[in-house]
Parts: sequence; C-alpha cells; structure tokens
Amino acid sequence: MKNEKNYAEQLKEKLCYKPVNAAEKLESEELNTADSFCEGYKAFLNDCKTEREAAEYFKFIAERKGFAPYEKGKNYSAGDKVYLFNRGKAIILAVFGKKSLAEGVRLTAAHIDSPRLDLKPNPLYEDNKLALLKTHYYGGIKKYQWTVMPLAMHGVVILKNGETVKVSIGEKPDDPRFVITDLLPHLAGEQMKKTLAEAISGEELNMLIGSRPIKSDEGGDLVKLNILRILNEKYGMTEADFLSAELELVPAYPASDIGLDRSMIGGYGQDDRVCAYPSAMAILDCAEPEYTGVCVLTDKEEIGSEGNTGLKSSYLKYFIYDIAAGQGLDGRDVLSKTECLSADVNAGFDPTFPTVIEKFNAAYLNNGIVVTKYTGAGGKGGTSDASAEFVAKVRRIFDDNNVVWQMGELGKVDGGGGGTVAKFIAELNVDVVDVGVPVLSMHAPFEVVSKLDVYMAYKAFKTFFESKD
Ligand code: MN
Ligand code: MN
Repeated sequence: MKNEKNYAEQLKEKLCYKPVNAAEKLESEELNTADSFCEGYKAFLNDCKTEREAAEYFKFIAERKGFAPYEKGKNYSAGDKVYLFNRGKAIILAVFGKKSLAEGVRLTAAHIDSPRLDLKPNPLYEDNKLALLKTHYYGGIKKYQWTVMPLAMHGVVILKNGETVKVSIGEKPDDPRFVITDLLPHLAGEQMKKTLAEAISGEELNMLIGSRPIKSDEGGDLVKLNILRILNEKYGMTEADFLSAELELVPAYPASDIGLDRSMIGGYGQDDRVCAYPSAMAILDCAEPEYTGVCVLTDKEEIGSEGNTGLKSSYLKYFIYDIAAGQGLDGRDVLSKTECLSADVNAGFDPTFPTVIEKFNAAYLNNGIVVTKYTGAGGKGGTSDASAEFVAKVRRIFDDNNVVWQMGELGKVDGGGGGTVAKFIAELNVDVVDVGVPVLSMHAPFEVVSKLDVYMAYKAFKTFFESKD
C-alpha cells in the first residue's frame, strides 16, 4: 500500500496545473541535442550583433538551403522556398505548403534589432586633446550599464556617390575597442546622490575614440584630425560621410556559456535574437509543410516597430497579398485564416529581484518557452490579448509534440509593462500569441538565457510550422 499514491496525491495529479522543468524532464539525448543546437546559436550571436548583420546572415543561410528571392507573379508549388529581403534590415523566409493559401499561413515573427547606442549624425569632436563620438541611444536601456565596458562599432557608411562601406571594428582579437568613461568614486559624490535613471545622462554617453594628435606646429583639433585621417585611409570617408551613416555601438565581448554546469548562455542582443535564430532554423529545416510557413525577422521593434523595416510597415502584408494573388486569392482572406506565433522574449524570474513578479504567473528559466497571452501595461493597455481558442490550439500542438512550455506574464499588475509585435500582427486580422524564451537582465548589454529554453523555442516553432491542424 505504501507505494500507492493516496487519494489527495491522485487528485492533485489529475487536477492541478504544474509547469514542467525541462532540465528535470528531458532525457540526456535531448539535452545533448539542445546543447549542440546552442553552439550554432552562440556563433550566430557573435557573428550578428546588428539587424543588418542578422538579416544578411539569414539570407546567406537561406540561399544555401535552397531559398530563392521571391518573384511576384511567379507560380509556386508545395516545397518551394523563397525569401524577401527588406532594405538589408529585415527578411521574410517562406516555404510553400501542400494546402492552398486559402487555409491561411503559419507565421512566426521575431525581431533582429536590439537596444544599443547609435552614433549621432555629426558625432566626432575633440575636447582637451581627446577625440570622442556623440551617441544617441536606441531602445530601452539603463544608460549607466553602457559605461566602462569594451564597445565595438558596426554598421554602414553610405558615401555621397552611393557606395556602401561596411564597418566592423572591435570584434577581431587584435582590433582596437572603444569605451564610454564613468566618474571615479572619489569624485562621484554628486553623481552618487542621483537616481539610476539620472546618474548617466544621454549626453554623457560619449565614446572615446582617440588621443594622439597629428604632428603639426599649428591648428587645433589635431587629435580629431588624426582620427579622420585614419577613417579616410581605412574607409575612404570624410567627416561629412557620418551624415549618411548608420553606425551602431554594441558590446565587444563574445557570448559565452554561463555557469559551472554550462546550462546558460550570456551575451548581447538576445532580445530578440534568441527567438529569431530558432524561428529561422525551424523554417529552414521545414521540408514540405501542410500549411505555407512564413518566418519574418523584422527590425525596429525596440523603438515601437516604426519605419519601413518595422512591422508597422506594410511589407509583411504586401508579401502575403502577393503570394495570395499568385494563387488567385484575396490577401485579406489569407490573412484572416493565418495563425501567428509572435516570437519574443519575456522576463525570467530572477531570485535577486523577486518583488517585481507575481510568482504564480511568472516565467522561469528551464521551464521551456513561455507563452504570453497578453503584454501591455495597466489594464492590458496596448496589447492584442490572444483568444482562449487560439491559446488552446497552441497548447495542444505543443503538448502533443513534447514541447516544454510555460505560461507567463510580464511582472506584476501595475508593475510596469511592455509590448511586442503581436498587436501589429493582430491588426492584420491574424490570430496571434507571444511565444518566446525567458531572459534574465533583459535589455542589459549582457543578457542570460537557458540553453534548454532556446532549444525548446526551436522545437516549438518547428512543431508549429509542421503541424497538420
Ligand atoms: Mn523583444
Ligand atoms: Mn526588447
């Protein structure tokens, strides 16, 4: 009798909801698969620190896997693979399914931009024989986190003649790096009285770029001039070319395993490359699905999905309209049957900061991907709030295919808030819910995720693309 569960235990098993811990549940074979999947992910994080680099990377891999540029008006059949590259900053990958597009598409949407520091249009100046660059932060950052760490500069300079010069300084072992200085504690009496939000202001995020002047008997700003000389030698640019450049400052260090057990990954820009990479790999590995699969990897989410490379733009809608027209269908009819996993991160529970979450509805590392029914702030302001019907369907698909997943809210009610691209997808009359990886230190220059959750994201998106119902 002792081995038998008592009545309460039996009832508990039958009736109570208990999230699964993937680290406890998974067999060693799948743990190994997860760990090796993450090796590719870390390499991707190190190769792609900006939206342009990520879009370029996915285009390259897609072409190698047989994806061709989408041609409007061309007749596509099941198994055909296409991509649409949007201005070098966003990309749509699609695999045509066996079913007609009249049944809708299976869509995932992740973003490949991350919080960072952009250079101002006219950034370079000299002050007391030090040359510096003025920056303008992009996305929601804690500004003090961006001082006193090695920075790399990535991006493009478009010369007046239209020629594109690609810039990447600070990634190779012998490259120089850059830094934003902070005040020594000995003299920080006034600064230390300020709030964290005020301690470092936007105009104090000035990046050190040089200190050695050109040898000359006359003239000022000789340190700045020397920097311009080096830039001109290396890239053929002049100071005015900064005006038509997009140069982004990102952490110069690589991603690495975190923990003695190597169970986690630390690195820059995991919001949202930790969903972009698994969703892209899922569609790339999708042979001939029932439904047409579409994976959009978009830009500008961190500043509200604005601009023609963000999801407030019509580029995704136009693509769906065009493939619909290819099958003699109305785009709106395809969209209204479409289902979407908005692939974005949520906050993971952090034992050091337990008071900001509500423990029954928080996401935990290693409990698998987190399904977030709604984001927003206050009384669900600014969110699409997925329907119970669609959540039920996603839940069934994941459970039937051994995807470890959990449900999560973003912190306490009235504790703050946030949003994703889900609401812009919902505006297209698409069923959508947020599904992503829980992250510690989200939006910091070094974010932490669990390897098992990253792998579960891949499994979830692949299952979704390949699902038959
Ligand atoms: Mn995000
Ligand atoms: Mn974000």
